Amino acid sequence: MINLDDPKKFRPLASQAHQVAMNMLRPISRKYDRAEHEYPTELDMLAAMIDGLSESGAAEGAGAAGVRRDESKDKPGVKNGSNLASVMSISEMCWGDVGLLLSMPRQGLGNSAIASVANDEQLERFEGVWAGMAITEPGTGSDSANIKTTATLDGDHYVINGEKIYVTSGDRADAIVVWATLDRDLGRAAIKSFVVPKGTPGMRVDRLEHKLGIRSSDTATIIFENCRVPAENLLGSPEIDTKAGFAGAMATFDNTRPLVASMAVGCAKASLDLTRELLEQAGVEIDYDRPAMVQSAAAARFLQMEADWEAARLLMMQAAWMADNRQPNSLEASMAKAKAGRVGSDITLGCVELAGSIGYSEAELLEKWARDSKILDIFEGTQQIQQLIVARRILGLSSAELK
Ligand SMILES: Cc1cc2nc3c(=O)[nH]c(=O)nc-3n(C[C@H](O)[C@H](O)[C@H](O)COP(=O)(O)OP(=O)(O)OC[C@H]3O[C@@H](n4cnc5c(N)ncnc54)[C@H](O)[C@@H]3O)c2cc1C
Repeated sequence: MINLDDPKKFRPLASQAHQVAMNMLRPISRKYDRAEHEYPTELDMLAAMIDGLSESGAAEGAGAAGVRRDESKDKPGVKNGSNLASVMSISEMCWGDVGLLLSMPRQGLGNSAIASVANDEQLERFEGVWAGMAITEPGTGSDSANIKTTATLDGDHYVINGEKIYVTSGDRADAIVVWATLDRDLGRAAIKSFVVPKGTPGMRVDRLEHKLGIRSSDTATIIFENCRVPAENLLGSPEIDTKAGFAGAMATFDNTRPLVASMAVGCAKASLDLTRELLEQAGVEIDYDRPAMVQSAAAARFLQMEADWEAARLLMMQAAWMADNRQPNSLEASMAKAKAGRVGSDITLGCVELAGSIGYSEAELLEKWARDSKILDIFEGTQQIQQLIVARRILGLSSAELK
């Protein structure tokens, strides 16, 4: 029999994350939405708490960093279920605040990249490092195979040159995982990722962006000018395997897309929970025993949004479960991200609409959640790109055959 409930063993973790979201993130949510670019110092204490729990093994996958294929159960820190644990706890944290979750020290998307492609020695060396991820460039967004930033081997160092834009935690993180090409003539197979520690000469933050949502999260433009990093900071293998193509780099996305889906699921749940309360206060009854079409328009709309939310949650769980069980999940990761990204935006905006003027007012957080959730349908691959990937996978077409 299929059991669609949350796995029992992760419920305590999810419930802990929910408490943290309610008691530590929600109270400072509006403050840092207004104080854009100001570092939320309250997060230092929270990050220390999560570090402590992780060391004791009680918070496996408590943040964005906790994702690695379970290739060997004997490896330290690698436990079956870390992807499921991550999506469940991250969605709870994002029920509190997406921007603050993205600002959590040591839980950057670069950490997921390290977890996905680093070798064992690198995993150990970069443990505890807070890493942002820099893929996007002024001329390269969705088409990440078109990266122009170069990395040239010079002795025992790589020299990086290029410009990266929209780097989440680009100013605050301890290091940036930078995607650069070893040889532009060799196409996508030559793209590798490099860990560049903060303060490395030749790497500088040029500016921070002002944004529609997730305003507590810093988003930086970073310039690399003859930036030298030790050759051993290239993540994974330096070999250019034209047969494997982009597979190595893309493995990161199979892990990070379910995480972004979980952020959308959490943010949308926050909107649904508050809207249900507001509707009840307004005397709207939502009856789960009667068809939506015979209920009030508001109740019917709410039920339809809840059904969309549930579908997104199940796809997110499936993609994470497959990663935990070493099953290829590119298709499911993109399906989860596409569904959650889209319905996340639809639901949060739908809740603003259902709540009317209260929804639009800063008196509640509904308007903020509608702003915050939009990014989750854009970064780590837009809605359209996820649909393209799903279509390619289902039709068995390559990226050259279906653009
Ligand atoms: C707040 C924020 C944080 C971010 N954080 C990071 C980060 O940490 N690291 C990082 O590397 N990047 C980050 N990004 C960048 C983000 O990943 C890109 O914005 C995203 O990949 C889209 O790229 P683009 O903006 O160049 O849009 P484009 O690729 O130019 O796309 C523009 C539009 O065209 C559509 N489109 C493009 N190609 C196709 C196609 N083949 N078929 C159909 N439609 C298509 C897209 O879906 C989109 O709607 C961030 C962006 C923002 C706004």
